[in-house]
Amino acid sequence: MSQKILIVDDEEGIRESLKLILGDHYELILTESGIQALSCLDNAPDIGLVLMDIKMPKMNGLEILKEMKARRPDVKVIIVTGYKSVETASEAVNLGAVGYIVKPFKSEEVLEAVKSNLK
Ligand SMILES: [Mg+2]
Repeated sequence: MSQKILIVDDEEGIRESLKLILGDHYELILTESGIQALSCLDNAPDIGLVLMDIKMPKMNGLEILKEMKARRPDVKVIIVTGYKSVETASEAVNLGAVGYIVKPFKSEEVLEAVKSNLK
């Protein structure tokens, strides 16, 4: 059912790492901006999980998260952040994110977080 994963990060290197970690196990959609991510979400009802950066040009991850939860309250969002700030991460959780991963991440952390949130 909702097994597709949407990856949102403005850095190509991060998108590629996540693709290497998850690509053999899950169907992925990769995007580099919030605007793209929102249109993907509108067009792909089978997206069940989003892995999203916070620091991106134009719309940051928290703004996009708010908009995503307004459009698709069922979709789960995991924040992947370079900010070690607990405040930013907990703000994301307050806005409806199911959790967060801090960059640089290990493959196992990503796989574990995804597995526990995609049923
Ligand atoms: Mg970024």
